Amino acid sequence: MSGSFTTRKAHCPTCGTELSGASPVEVRDALPDPGDLSVCLYCAELLEFNMDLTLSVLSANTIAALPADTRQALLRTQHFIRFVNADKPRRGRPDS
Ligand SMILES: [Zn+2]
Repeated sequence: MSGSFTTRKAHCPTCGTELSGASPVEVRDALPDPGDLSVCLYCAELLEFNMDLTLSVLSANTIAALPADTRQALLRTQHFIRFVNADKPRRGRPDS
């Protein structure tokens, strides 16, 4: 993974956390483009950048249609974030 950088602020549609940074996986210093995939660092939701670079939750159908290596990389990242966050207090949820 390459270095991280500041992005346009957007909120995770699942946990509501303001996300203002990203780390490219494949291309160093690549800013996100519409259609790029992401994983929320706080709740591990699988996300996609919209045309205006806000974020939407990836649907199960979209996840199923991804190339196997891309789907596996996303799911590995999601599992890693959940593992790392397991002992941390939850952020961004009104019931936390
Ligand atoms: Zn989230």
